[in-house]
Amino acid sequence: MDTQTVVVRIRTPDSKDMDWTVNGSLQLTFRDVLDVISRVSPDVVTTAFEYEDEDGDRITVRSDDETHAMFSYYLGILQQMHLCGQMKEPLNIFPRACKPAGKRNIHGLKVNTKMSIEKRLSSSGPECLSTKSLQNSSTEFVNIMANGQIREEDIECQDILGHGNGGTVYKAHHCPTGNTLAIKVILLDITQEVQKQIMSELEILYKCSSPYIIAFYGVFFVENRVSICTEFMDGGSLDIYGVIPEPVLGRIAVAVVKGLTYLWRLKILHRDVKPSNILVNTTGQVKLCDFGVSTQLVNSIAKTYVGTSVYMAPERISGEQYGIHSDVWSLGITFMELALGRFPYTQIQRNRGSLVPLQLLQFILDEDPPALPQGQFSAPFEDFITQCMKKQSKQRPAPEELMIHPFIDQYNDENTEVLSMWLCRTLEERRSRAVT
Ligand code: ATP
Ligand code: MG
Repeated sequence: MDTQTVVVRIRTPDSKDMDWTVNGSLQLTFRDVLDVISRVSPDVVTTAFEYEDEDGDRITVRSDDETHAMFSYYLGILQQMHLCGQMKEPLNIFPRACKPAGKRNIHGLKVNTKMSIEKRLSSSGPECLSTKSLQNSSTEFVNIMANGQIREEDIECQDILGHGNGGTVYKAHHCPTGNTLAIKVILLDITQEVQKQIMSELEILYKCSSPYIIAFYGVFFVENRVSICTEFMDGGSLDIYGVIPEPVLGRIAVAVVKGLTYLWRLKILHRDVKPSNILVNTTGQVKLCDFGVSTQLVNSIAKTYVGTSVYMAPERISGEQYGIHSDVWSLGITFMELALGRFPYTQIQRNRGSLVPLQLLQFILDEDPPALPQGQFSAPFEDFITQCMKKQSKQRPAPEELMIHPFIDQYNDENTEVLSMWLCRTLEERRSRAVT
């Protein structure tokens, strides 16, 4: 029954309804539908949508399960229509938006969900958008990205999104298709041989496809610069948000654990889990970036920028073997920082960035790990941090244990609205503070 083509009619308040033809509707996720809605109404941030049941009552959809239930219900209705010889009616859905972007998103930030949906459309085939205007530039973009044909001359750098130890990240415009990207430009003095090695080590990024991992669009070298092109996230990284409330943090933690589990399954260790490498967007997505797939790239950067990351696990600081458990320590210390709004070891002073001289980290080796202050956070969250930050690496939770930890389990509800709302509000507050 799922092979049946269905027409979803996206009903907008301004009556510019759009029909979307879908095959394999039962495979669609909540995010797929939101992505398409955001392309129909790019100026509003949609966090949920509704459909009508047989009695005309509106049912709200906010998760994959509810999306699946909606399509199952509609396929049943279609069958009834068929049996009764009735004309097929499209499935009407009604996006539920926050305030119009112009009012609420005073940064003028735009949610760029085009690429992810098109990537999936191009790889999985059957679903298609019925509107031509939506297809043109996007198909071209997918082809360019899929073939690794992104070129420096096609890119116009706009704002600087931030500086790291390794380079500078720009928001950029891909001129041939009009899409927005993030480009990390790193200055490196390396031979052509090393360039080739880096290119081939980064190949695996084309194969990474997860809603919890930043999409990779390509890499190119020009003179002594390497430019790495990825999906742009309009909320930036988590290091700028100070204290993040636990219900928001819980949803972020679920996404980060899912992202790490995905990488670990591909035998990729992240190696650099920290707040600045967790990116968020105003549709409530959370994605990991900057994981160390290229040893050559990591080594080449390390030659220029000396220091040791304060998020490193004790066994890494003391030069022992690195494994999944080391990522789990970094996960723990990262979430402790995000809950407290400061780096958990008060004794370790950082200037800018996360690198310090190795000697400063002796404290992490000598002392007991910090714990969250009692009574301010839920017991599951306190325990999650304690478990992840066990000094003995083997005592930290394994991936499957992380997923079923009560803190993760409690927030594993696919509710993207909590983060989306909090992020929009926080960005708005930051913006008005900057203006006054
Ligand atoms: P380090 O170099 O030690 O890893 P870092 O993670 O802060 O530190 P970069 O990775 O260079 O440094 O990133 C700089 C900043 O650019 C980040 O803090 C983040 O705010 C922003 N940024 C990076 N990638 C993106 C992206 N895809 N979308 C939006 N903002 C991004
Ligand atoms: Mg980074």
